[in-house]
Amino acid sequence: MIARVTLEIALRREFDYVIPEELAGAVEIGTRVKVPFGSRQVMGVVTGLPESSPHTQLRSILKVIGKQSQITEKVLRLARWIAGYYCCPVEIAIKSVLPEAVRREKEGWQERLHVRLLPWTGDLPKLTRRQTDVWHVIEERRELPLQELLSLTGATAEVVRRIEDQGLIEIAPQITERDPYAHETILPTTSLTLNTEQARCLERITRALNEATPASIREARGTSGGPMEGKDSVFLLYGVTGSGKTEVYLQAIDRALDLGRGAIVLVPEISLTPQTVERFKARFSGGRHATLVAVLHSHLSAGERHDEWHKIRQGRARIVIGARSAIFAPVEPLGLIIVDEEHEHSYKQEEAPRYNARDVAVVRGRMEGAVVVLGSATPSMESYSNAKKNKYSLLEMPTRIDDRKLPLVRVVDMRSEARKEKGPPIFSHPLKEALHQRLERKEQSMLFLNRRGFSTSLQCPKCGYVAGCPNCSISLTFHRAQGLLRCHVCSHSAPAPTRCPEPSCGNPGIRYSGLGTEKVEDTLRKLFPQARVARMDSDTLKRKEDYRQVLGDFRTGKIDILVGTQMIAKGLHFPNVTLVGIVYADLSLHMPDFRAGERTFQLLTQVSGRAGRGDVEGEVFVQAFTPYHPAIQYARRHDFIGFYEQEIEHRQELQYPPFSRIAMITLKGRNEEKVAFSAEHLKKGIEGLVAGWKGVVLSGPAPAPLARAETFYRYQFMIRCRQMPLFSQKLSDYLIGQEWPDDITVTPDIDPVNLS
Ligand code: ADP
Ligand code: ZN
Repeated sequence: MIARVTLEIALRREFDYVIPEELAGAVEIGTRVKVPFGSRQVMGVVTGLPESSPHTQLRSILKVIGKQSQITEKVLRLARWIAGYYCCPVEIAIKSVLPEAVRREKEGWQERLHVRLLPWTGDLPKLTRRQTDVWHVIEERRELPLQELLSLTGATAEVVRRIEDQGLIEIAPQITERDPYAHETILPTTSLTLNTEQARCLERITRALNEATPASIREARGTSGGPMEGKDSVFLLYGVTGSGKTEVYLQAIDRALDLGRGAIVLVPEISLTPQTVERFKARFSGGRHATLVAVLHSHLSAGERHDEWHKIRQGRARIVIGARSAIFAPVEPLGLIIVDEEHEHSYKQEEAPRYNARDVAVVRGRMEGAVVVLGSATPSMESYSNAKKNKYSLLEMPTRIDDRKLPLVRVVDMRSEARKEKGPPIFSHPLKEALHQRLERKEQSMLFLNRRGFSTSLQCPKCGYVAGCPNCSISLTFHRAQGLLRCHVCSHSAPAPTRCPEPSCGNPGIRYSGLGTEKVEDTLRKLFPQARVARMDSDTLKRKEDYRQVLGDFRTGKIDILVGTQMIAKGLHFPNVTLVGIVYADLSLHMPDFRAGERTFQLLTQVSGRAGRGDVEGEVFVQAFTPYHPAIQYARRHDFIGFYEQEIEHRQELQYPPFSRIAMITLKGRNEEKVAFSAEHLKKGIEGLVAGWKGVVLSGPAPAPLARAETFYRYQFMIRCRQMPLFSQKLSDYLIGQEWPDDITVTPDIDPVNLS
């Protein structure tokens, strides 16, 4: 018997091994194995079970990892698709579908010693006083962890061993499951009565679930060939903030469970708050479809992640909620995939394999006959255009629950405020006034600025010195609390100088300018000394409890004004927040990225959505230096469709997505000339690949917007075309065949979201 194995060390090839007799029943497709390779032993995954091998003198598999195959055949197929489409070696794609904690050779269960009472008839043997004390506790509890017994009784392990010697009890290792949410009491909830819009959406999804099921059963029985064909199986749920999308998700999952099928829920890492997780756990903690809800995200310990993953693999958790990589969870059979905030760029992984979990969700749904629901208040241009072309089915929820009003958005022209104040203020008059009012009325406010730190640049007005990073082409940000200048790209840091560091200058009058959240917080404290102010950004949240703590304090009214970066923009629901201020709304408009307008529109809409979720109507102040920009004006009117219509025209004119797909190739190296030279060589190669194709736009090579990062020079080359799967296949083959100078790395990024 032969197994074809993909090895974890990147070789882009598969190798055949003999399955020894003693492992015969334990090897299937997706089983992880340890095999000899040269003089080493390496890990791999069985990716095929061929009848025979063209090679002779095969070596044997040494060991099987885990009791169950770790990668299901379906997930393996998905990994192969990822490798092909995103131009990455298949070993890397396969590796990324399993959490590191699961891939380890040793089983990662935490075992602890437990003491268990054994059946005993007749008289007890004679025990010492000490032993009797301990015995009473065991008799009452029947079973408990050894450690707990010792701390309860103050006895030593030796005493307990003596009782074991008498045959009264047994001490044995037992698996203890780590539950990251163990300390939380979650009260079960039941389904809410849906409003008309919600009910209509749920009905469409339910119908699709019913229709999709027979196909999957056929497939499970091996009677059906390929994946189910698109059509009514991918939904775009466009619902304004507070329209009750989550309730629709919950009830759709319930329907999937009715059909005996599980669900994956993807949410952006940032909105994977205890609040969100709780909503899902609470709904399925009881009732007819009670099941565990597994949670996968980066704040879990390796052990917790291991246990959560195995709960899914063993079928005990039928629902998974998690960030990007949860799309690979081995839910079996899978009925429903939900991608909340589908427009979010954090679904894209910025290292190989550079997949977008939203797009992988659609592919996985098709492969497994699962229904996919992409939800957003501000759908991506790509998804909305797919809906308009009927590639996805559009579901709409245009009003908030209970007809609650969307907040009133006021745009403040900061140019005229700057004229009044001799320079741009942080808070305009109307915003100051509004903050003051909220404090008096004991309502809460949120202030938002998408830039952390205190000041974003340090200059010397005398000699023109600017504090830049020695490793990157970017200026350093001043973090006042730490007294440091820091690079937000490579984390380089240096003490903040008090005079110009240029030796020939030394001017004490150096100037800090540009604004970050730290300064917003500081100014706020000075303006409103009586207010309780907190800040939430990646500088203030160092430990996982911090996040919970700040949100908890805000919820219980211990904080009046919360300042933060985009971290506070997503998915949070605080009914007492009636004011949202966006300090500088046009920061994200001036990025060298064709999506800058779209991103600004999304951000403004998401942030405004935090206001007025309770009984009192919300108000939003958008401070902007370009107040008439369409992204700002359409966001002010809550007009997604209007924004889409005008933005789509630009996209068409310039042949940007959704009218094309992009492949961005970045070349990096320490010698700029070599990088530039290699980039020119690449350009010729790519011209050859697409010779004769219609509608292809090649741009570059040119230095990247971030021309140098972490001491590497960076050049980029962009390809826009319509046939991306075909192109990425060609590109993959081409790149494998090329020899680049040693110190040059070439990174293809298909459907990039970050163009810097
Ligand atoms: P979205 O995800 O669209 O922003 P949510 O699902 O968070 O909206 O819903 C907003 C609020 O409305 C939540 O407090 C939710 O419990 C409540 N809600 C949702 N659906 C209903 C309903 N059918 N009846 C009553 N309240 C609802
Ligand atoms: Zn740097």
